[in-house]
Amino acid sequence: MYVMILGAPGSGKGTQGKILAGHLGIPQVSTGDLLRAAVKAGTPLGVEAKGYMDQGLLVPDAVILGLIREILASPTAAKGVLMDGFPRTVAQAEAVDRLLKDHQQRVDHVAVLDVDEAELVQRLLGRAAKEGRSDDNLQSIQQRLKVYHDQTQPLIAYYDRQGVVRRVPGMGDVDAIQTRLRKAVAA
Ligand code: AMP
Repeated sequence: MYVMILGAPGSGKGTQGKILAGHLGIPQVSTGDLLRAAVKAGTPLGVEAKGYMDQGLLVPDAVILGLIREILASPTAAKGVLMDGFPRTVAQAEAVDRLLKDHQQRVDHVAVLDVDEAELVQRLLGRAAKEGRSDDNLQSIQQRLKVYHDQTQPLIAYYDRQGVVRRVPGMGDVDAIQTRLRKAVAA
């Protein structure tokens, strides 16, 4: 089963994705987590990605697709993957569709977490205070929200045409949202 979780920064993709992947028995892949690990380790990938991430911009598609290609070719992904934070552009979505097709697979569900913008900013500023992520400052947060609207939201229409979009209200407590998500991907 191939499941994508789509949502603005701060919508809870990581938190919800982790629980849902455990429930479904498939690995969770977060491109954001992979990039942060690369930055921390100082690998060439991390060095290339850091500037984009700190400014709240997307890392170039070619870089991200290299990562995804590797993941989909690995045995751990054979039964499916839950991806959070990927795809973020129509070009990424088209590329992953082609890759999955090569493996006789397709995207089964795209869960979209809907959260009000004011709540997103509050959550991200809260996370900045707690986790100290270098991209959780007001300027980068605003940039990331803009990038989401401009480059990632068009993906909803792209996946709507495939009939795989499941919209899930992302406000309220973690358990309630998880229950909605599970129902959405079971349908
Ligand atoms: P996230 O943890 O998903 O919010 O991602 C943090 C940052 O990593 C983003 O603001 C981007 O700079 C970068 N990033 C993560 N996933 C992607 C992706 N699929 N495409 C491009 N950039 C990404």
